[in-house]
Amino acid sequence: MKNTDQRHFATQAIHAGYQPRAHQGALTPPIYTSSTYAFDSVRQGGEAFQGENDHFIYARLGSPSQQLLENRLAELEQAEAALATASGMGAITAAIWSLVKPGDEIIADLSLYGCTFSFLAHGLKPFGIEVTFLNLSDPANLARHITNKTKLVYSETPSNPNMRLVDIAALADITRAYDCKLMIDNTYCTPYLQNPLTLGADLVVHSATKYLGGHGDLIAGFVAGTKPDMDHIRMFGLKDMTGAVISGFDVALLLRGIKTLHVRMDRHVENAHQVAAYLEQSKYVKNTFYPGLQTFAQRQLADRQMRQAGGMIAFELNADRAQSAAFVDALQMILCAVSLGDAETLIQHPASMTHSTYSEEELLAHLISPNLIRISVGLEHIDDIITDLDQAFESVFSGTGFSNNGLSISA
Ligand SMILES: *Cc1c(COP(=O)(O)O)cnc(C)c1O
Repeated sequence: MKNTDQRHFATQAIHAGYQPRAHQGALTPPIYTSSTYAFDSVRQGGEAFQGENDHFIYARLGSPSQQLLENRLAELEQAEAALATASGMGAITAAIWSLVKPGDEIIADLSLYGCTFSFLAHGLKPFGIEVTFLNLSDPANLARHITNKTKLVYSETPSNPNMRLVDIAALADITRAYDCKLMIDNTYCTPYLQNPLTLGADLVVHSATKYLGGHGDLIAGFVAGTKPDMDHIRMFGLKDMTGAVISGFDVALLLRGIKTLHVRMDRHVENAHQVAAYLEQSKYVKNTFYPGLQTFAQRQLADRQMRQAGGMIAFELNADRAQSAAFVDALQMILCAVSLGDAETLIQHPASMTHSTYSEEELLAHLISPNLIRISVGLEHIDDIITDLDQAFESVFSGTGFSNNGLSISA
């Protein structure tokens, strides 16, 4: 894959937007901690406020550290511009507050990150913004429902926690005919595996806490799209509505993480393919949802819009809700934790954890079964990951009607 200036992703992840020469040869960019920036004169300060020069003003409006990160992220997402924030929710809320007003409608997919769902369903409603949840895996559902009132269509792909995909290009074909923006949460794929903007989306948002940071040591996010949209979100949604500004220290950690994104991601994907194959043939598993499996219902779409299948898997056990939780509890090396994209393999039970605020009916309506497990496949040795899954299955399910399935672990 080539970026606009014809360098490859791996090169841009390491070099884009930074020249050591301009920083006394420092290989690693300096961290700017300054909260405010001094002007030569009132006139220069006044011009900065009017946008007539590009002098930094105050760190909530941007800093040299943040700007370097944003230029690199824009390059990786093949966007005109990007805006970095203190969290993924900081990016999502700053963007959405900037794009809708009372009386507008947002159409969102049924399956969403829990806090995004909460923001849309409970946060925005009292402000007179209508939010409709539809199954956007079928673009016809959007075509039937969209009107001139619809100002934003929002989806993840693959979706959290159940790995459903939406066809970004097909949704963009529909929103394009309206004064309506298409916004895609690309956290699961990262820009290395999928670029929603090149498929027709107007905005892309990320939790950089996950694969981009990659080491579980920071919270950050970003939104990318056109320069006018980013300017508006920066000077309204971020500056005035959320104030969720990223610190220079987190910029440094994130730039470090991004340098190895492509290397880590290749191994996440390689391990996930093997874990998915193991789960699919296990008699304790009813369904395995992984875009890399031949049996994945949306396999053709995955091949069309994702470069690789990613590191996330969802699976349903042949078990009830309590047994599903017991399986997670029986794991020894794999950690029971939310978040994803870290070196450590992380597993969780959405019905009990990330989506536990949903009623039984809401879980069903949002396609989250009580026996669904979400796993973020880490960078440990594949044999150790599968050995742990295997011992947990045996310890929970042997003696419950299942017998040892005689599985051999790959060498
Ligand atoms: C984690 C996550 C978010 C929220 O990001 P934070 O950095 O935790 O604020 C949004 N969307 C998805 C898909 C996520 O996984």
